[in-house]
Amino acid sequence: MNKILIVEDEANMLRGLKDNLEFEGYIVDTAEEGNTGLEKLLQNKYDLILLDVMLPNISGFDICKTARKEGITTPIIMLTAKGEEIDKVLGLELGADDYITKPFSLRELLARIKAILRRTKSSGNGLINENINIQIGKLTVNFKNYEAFIDEKPVKMSHKEFEILHYLYQNANKTIDRDELMSNVWDINYDITTRTVDNFILKLRQKIENDPNQPKIIHTVHGVGYKFIF
Ligand code: CA
Repeated sequence: MNKILIVEDEANMLRGLKDNLEFEGYIVDTAEEGNTGLEKLLQNKYDLILLDVMLPNISGFDICKTARKEGITTPIIMLTAKGEEIDKVLGLELGADDYITKPFSLRELLARIKAILRRTKSSGNGLINENINIQIGKLTVNFKNYEAFIDEKPVKMSHKEFEILHYLYQNANKTIDRDELMSNVWDINYDITTRTVDNFILKLRQKIENDPNQPKIIHTVHGVGYKFIF
């Protein structure tokens, strides 16, 4: 049974969505304010989140950004108001999976929910299909579930760290220059620098290398980028 969190401050809209989704067989949890919504999604596991943009306390955009930063990969559909064209783009850049403009038909929303659930269940959020644990140095990683462990203890890794590690893993034993890494892991619109890339590599080394100062897995190729030895 799929569990959906709705974060929406308009009482009528919230009640309507909850009733209809429950009628469709979903388990529904709700929050009416940004801070409670964020708390719930950080503490519980959902299959999908419906997230309004304009909320008391914390906006839907900030919730989305924080959730992704914390490594939460649950699909998010943003509920935007009519005419918030820029907001839609912003929402998708911040890591939302889809958006729907109010007022929307229930049928359209249900179709989007079903499409996203089907996609995420079958592809594991677009990374690797096989649900397998891979040992990379001292880190055990499951790319499909965005999970990482050291000695069976969970390790906190951001969404971006998973994506970078996954890119390196897929391109093992090849020299990867920083530009290639940037264009493949970040969206073009993000203002990132080679220093950002290097900082992520430092963080990854601390998690996978026995001695991060003497890396044996992610090697630096001076003046170019990195080489992942696997
Ligand atoms: Ca609102």
